[in-house]
Amino acid sequence: MAKKTLLFNTFVAMSIAHNLNELKHSLPKAVSLVAVSKTKPASAILEAYDTGHRIFGENKVQELVGKYEELPKDIQWHMIGHLQRNKVKYIAPFVALIHGVDSERLLLEINKQGIKHQRKIPCLLQMHIATEATKFGLSNEELEALLPKAATLEGVAIKGLMGMATFTSNEQQIEAEFNALHASFQKAQESLPLDILSMGMSGDYPIALSCGSTMIRVGSKIFGARH
Ligand SMILES: *Cc1c(COP(=O)(O)O)cnc(C)c1O
Repeated sequence: MAKKTLLFNTFVAMSIAHNLNELKHSLPKAVSLVAVSKTKPASAILEAYDTGHRIFGENKVQELVGKYEELPKDIQWHMIGHLQRNKVKYIAPFVALIHGVDSERLLLEINKQGIKHQRKIPCLLQMHIATEATKFGLSNEELEALLPKAATLEGVAIKGLMGMATFTSNEQQIEAEFNALHASFQKAQESLPLDILSMGMSGDYPIALSCGSTMIRVGSKIFGARH
């Protein structure tokens, strides 16, 4: 009997639909979930799609465009990775949210493409909260300088902030970084009506939620490890 239960658990732990439903039911109603499908095939995305899920995140433009073309058109595609200015044009017609806007030059290019496609492209400004030098993002000073300009642009809609914590097992550090991002978010809300705070991944989303996250980006916990 014990053996059977173990086998059953192993099986369900590997089901995308099960992982997704379990995660969704554990989340507060107001929190949105981006299912991060990077490197995963269309079949895996369709398994998640068939549960009713519609928000998927990718971090490479070419992969994002390919999946957009291949998969159902009611999927809301989020660009969660670092975005180069010369590639904005490929996703501008359809992208539902760009998470990683980390410079004025990138924002101005998104604005240009938004105007060209007669849409206000929803964007999050990415903040640098990790101690790692490799993670992209704005400082609080840069954010303060950018917000008033961002608010005047016709082709973008600034919806909130995004950040990634340091990759560490030190939970106090992760918590401190998420708290700092939440403080930046509250400060920014004084000048713009922002409602999205995108923070938290498979390894740290419970901490992110306790620090005020409104949107988590979860990949491996839904789709399994990436190889
Ligand atoms: C890959 C990625 C995620 C998801 O990572 P998991 O650890 O698989 O949940 C979230 N956010 C960004 C920006 C990513 O690149």
